[in-house]
Amino acid sequence: MLLKVNTERRNQFIDITARVADIVADLGVISGLCHIFCPHTTAGITINENADPNVKTDILRTLNRLIPNDPAYRHMEGNSDAHVKSSLVGASEVVAIDNGRLELGTWQAIYFCEFDGPRTRKVWVTILPGE
Ligand code: ZN
Repeated sequence: MLLKVNTERRNQFIDITARVADIVADLGVISGLCHIFCPHTTAGITINENADPNVKTDILRTLNRLIPNDPAYRHMEGNSDAHVKSSLVGASEVVAIDNGRLELGTWQAIYFCEFDGPRTRKVWVTILPGE
């Protein structure tokens, strides 16, 4: 299943947990694996806390401090910082499905990570049924 995510700016985390959970529920999968994949080179997927919004703010602050938009970067498009962040965060996550629901921890959410928005992005959600 393909999700579209509209992002608003550079360096933004968007909680897509409910949309992924809806796909799992709609397909009626009882157990298995849910693979969430971002087919972009300046974005990513991560899992982290959603209870305190300051956590994602702090993660973005840390990424921006570690990976500034260095004028010495050679990539002509001028967005190498976004490419580096994308590689560090990674393009995918896998979450177990049990009893028809995503087995995320109490405080966990699935985030689409935009490092070069605003853009319209894609996320592939693939379900692998288990036993
Ligand atoms: Zn680029």
